[in-house]
Amino acid sequence: MAAGATMLPNRTQAANVLDAKDPSYYPPSRTGLRGSHPGSNTYAHAMALDGDTDFGPATTLNEEYDLVVVGGGISGLAAAYYYQQKHGQDKKVLILENHDDFGGHARRNEHTIDGKLRIGYGGTQTLVDPQHWGKVGQDLLDDLGIDLSRWDTAYDLDFFKRHNLGAVMYFNKQVFGEDKVVRHPYSNHYNYIQGCMGAKISNEEAAREAPVSEKGKEQLLRILNGGYHVIKKVHNLTDAELRQFTRTHSYYDYLKDTLGVGDPLVIRMARMSALDWGSLGTDMMGIRGADGAGAMGFPPRPVYDPDNPYIHHFPGGNAGFTRAFVKRMIPDVAVGNNAEELVMAAFHYDELDKAGNAVRIRLNSTVVNVHHEGDPANASEVSVTYMNNNKAYRVRAKGVVMACYNVIIPYICSDLPEEQAAALKLQTKSPLQYTSVGLKNWRAFKELEIGVAMSPGNMHQNAMMDFPVSMGGYEYTRSPEDPCIIQMVHCPYGEEGAPEEEQYSEARYAMLNLQFQDYEDEIRSHLSGMLPKDLFNFDRDVASISVNRWAHGYANGGPGDSTKIGRQPFHRITVANSDSAPGADSWVAVEMAIRAVNELG
Ligand SMILES: Cc1cc2nc3c(=O)[nH]c(=O)nc-3n(C[C@H](O)[C@H](O)[C@H](O)COP(=O)(O)OP(=O)(O)OC[C@H]3O[C@@H](n4cnc5c(N)ncnc54)[C@H](O)[C@@H]3O)c2cc1C
Repeated sequence: MAAGATMLPNRTQAANVLDAKDPSYYPPSRTGLRGSHPGSNTYAHAMALDGDTDFGPATTLNEEYDLVVVGGGISGLAAAYYYQQKHGQDKKVLILENHDDFGGHARRNEHTIDGKLRIGYGGTQTLVDPQHWGKVGQDLLDDLGIDLSRWDTAYDLDFFKRHNLGAVMYFNKQVFGEDKVVRHPYSNHYNYIQGCMGAKISNEEAAREAPVSEKGKEQLLRILNGGYHVIKKVHNLTDAELRQFTRTHSYYDYLKDTLGVGDPLVIRMARMSALDWGSLGTDMMGIRGADGAGAMGFPPRPVYDPDNPYIHHFPGGNAGFTRAFVKRMIPDVAVGNNAEELVMAAFHYDELDKAGNAVRIRLNSTVVNVHHEGDPANASEVSVTYMNNNKAYRVRAKGVVMACYNVIIPYICSDLPEEQAAALKLQTKSPLQYTSVGLKNWRAFKELEIGVAMSPGNMHQNAMMDFPVSMGGYEYTRSPEDPCIIQMVHCPYGEEGAPEEEQYSEARYAMLNLQFQDYEDEIRSHLSGMLPKDLFNFDRDVASISVNRWAHGYANGGPGDSTKIGRQPFHRITVANSDSAPGADSWVAVEMAIRAVNELG
């Protein structure tokens, strides 16, 4: 908690927000500390960590809504959309969102590099399995103007092969004693980047070239040649026993007892190898979980079946999805006939909160109190208080969907039953950071043939070329001479072996205690150590950096039935967000919104 106190931005920071009604207001082009940017969680933290409930007298606005939605992520936007679908387009809906942009984790990052626009993503990246979203999902995609067949050509599947870009590992000097790039990823992570090539050298060469001790090299080779067949043989198991063994033993058991791995640097490589497929270091995983998360020690395999590739990626990630929702509900926000046309369309944020809109989106607005007016069982209205620019405002609604992080709901909804409040407090999210870096050219990546570089010694456990998607007039980088975005992923872990929630908490505080300069220094050291000096100079070649910190990232749920208990409807207040499934997935976020809207009646 002491660490928490130093990380909390003060109220002045929270108040220091630009007016979203200003025509020049355009958050996607902001760089620096993004994601949950400084100030965005000030009031939520004041409530949850300091027990604050008094934010001063609220001004009651002369605004009444059919529905107020707390949280403007995919789930919140979907709740507004389905409410109108169900009850009529004239229904008045207000979405309150604490960040300076809508979309929640689905965040667009723009980098203008030497006058050229490059569009990246700061969080929710790709529509997963959209072909299998069922009839409701297909109807939604149609209505939002999202044509899945467009990605058959918009995603340049041949890009990595054409440029000979594969998966490598960067060993940094600080941890491994020398800066070295080995053209082998040592894990299966690269297979989630559709089209990215794999290892360029054999397992034997990869083990030999790794800058670890001789014993470490032997262990690495055993890992690289590992897999279920080895577990079966070493432990003399039948097929049935193997299934049981891999269900009941941890990944670290496998490393240590089956493969005889103990070298600290090799263990470090293994711990970092699953990145954001799981939301944990592999020290917390079982054998099958680690395999499923791409960890080292299993033969490379495709992640997605060939009929269902991982390509449904807008240039701005799933912000392309949220833009389509917003355009559908607030037509004047942009010009465009479908989601693809919105990729390059000017987006007018000053249209989001116009009094004449049926749906309004109010940014920089943290909801601090939601309660029924009078006895919850008989109330006809709900009162909603939010903070904007350090002032409290109050509006009324016939119903409220809480599409925000579920863990904060008990601090906001003052009249929730105790059991439900307790259950909601158990709903966890893991911290995660996506950093997008605007590079003036990618000559160095081309030279080293890097599609993705695993980096177990660095804060960002990988650095990769952005997904090769061109659509709606947006052109992905064509040649190594052109500007591009590289994405870097940081899954912060706590002390190795500590329980999951302790690790999240430790990692969250560590993350939020850093300043932008710390990140810049780290990225400088990472890229400068990895890339050849004659082709890369940080000061010359890096144009911009957006560090998207999500202290509350992937939905993990809570123990036992707590998620189900937490998401129970409470008269005129219902609960959405991907937390309420739980599932860190965009379609799940939509499904939870549909449920929450239906529960309102
Ligand atoms: C880095 C990252 C990458 C991901 N990649 C993918 C991917 O590729 N594909 C995929 O399907 N999923 C991905 N996910 C999972 C992602 O969480 C879901 O897909 C989805 O975006 C979640 O939407 P949501 O609306 O449920 O939650 P959120 O996006 O978290 O939205 C909830 C919103 O409510 C706001 N809020 C919280 N409290 C308040 C308050 N008191 N007042 C007002 N607003 C409040 C939050 O700040 C937030 O903006 C990723 C997640 C992260 C963090």
